[in-house]
Amino acid sequence: MRILVSGGAGFIGSHLIDRLMEQGHHVICLDNLFTGTLQNIAHWQNHDRFEFIQHDIVEPIDRSVDQIYHLACPASPVHYQFDPIKTLKTNVMGTLNMLELAAKYGGKFLLASTSEIYGDPLVHPQTEDYWGNVNCTGIRSCYDEGKRAAETLTFDFHRQYKTEVRVARIFNTYGPRMLENDGRVVSNFICQALRGNDLTVYGDGSQTRSFCYVSDLVNGLINLMASDCILPVNLGNPGEYTILELAQAVKQLVDRPIGITYKPLPQDDPKRRRPDISRARSVLNWQPIVPLRQGLQETIDDFRRRISH
Ligand code: NAD
Ligand code: UDP
Repeated sequence: MRILVSGGAGFIGSHLIDRLMEQGHHVICLDNLFTGTLQNIAHWQNHDRFEFIQHDIVEPIDRSVDQIYHLACPASPVHYQFDPIKTLKTNVMGTLNMLELAAKYGGKFLLASTSEIYGDPLVHPQTEDYWGNVNCTGIRSCYDEGKRAAETLTFDFHRQYKTEVRVARIFNTYGPRMLENDGRVVSNFICQALRGNDLTVYGDGSQTRSFCYVSDLVNGLINLMASDCILPVNLGNPGEYTILELAQAVKQLVDRPIGITYKPLPQDDPKRRRPDISRARSVLNWQPIVPLRQGLQETIDDFRRRISH
């Protein structure tokens, strides 16, 4: 199949491309390299089934495709808040362009949505039928509301044009190839620990997140695309940890004396987050299998090879 991956030079996109290439597909990677790197896809650059197009999805593009995995969008708060108007354009105009392509060629379209569409949730754990608690004027809104609009467009293309769509609501995912300056908690803690610096905990560290290892997530995305599930599906690991527990786990695995520096909690930072993955379990026969400590160890080993100490 001819499969287009937008955002394919990024963290999750490049792991997805590895899997699709291993399965024998023809893969087109579209990316403007805002937070993605050519290094992430360098091992496929000369392969005859691989094509890289440096392209900003806010602009239309025409390529015949059988499937689109639409991942292009900065995912870390630091990067999506760098140019919030551009983030919103990427989510709305970019998603529209990708959907137009799917509709034109009759391709199947999968949107990488996010747990952020639940905002600071009042329902715990989050099920797909929860409508969320989102601030539409805050600093996270460009991303949260952008992804909500992207979901709306996706379902409207399905209703109006019968486009075959899939929506993955991805919860915090981590693993090798995260950027050193990504700003997300796992990469920050690991880089700080490897350098012997204090870990920066925002707020009192009692807020929770659920961390999914990237190989598990990629399995979920591929199962979802192959399924006939039109409903949104949560993909994430239901293990829930406070940020302080995550800090302790990283400290133990890096095995050196490291302190903690507390910093202010960013505005609208969700207090609790954990996916209810009953739908993914029953419809996709999917659940994560990599335990947090094992995934963290793989990620630490990868950062150890890449970063300057
Ligand atoms: P990432 O920042 O590593 O990857 C995003 C990729 O999109 C990058 O390669 C970037 O250069 C590219 N991109 C951004 N704007 C673009 C544009 N206008 N045109 C073309 N390319 C553009 O992030 P990631 O963690 O790999 O996330 C991938 C997708 O998954 C995103 O859509 C994100 O919202 C979603 N997601 C990720 C997580 C997570 O924890 N990693 C959680 C929820 C949802
Ligand atoms: N966080 C932290 N220290 C950091 C980076 C993040 O304590 O160096 C916290 C952040 O405030 C949030 C959680 O860790 O409560 C997850 O943050 P991240 O940016 O990874 O993802 P998101 O908030 O989008 O889930």
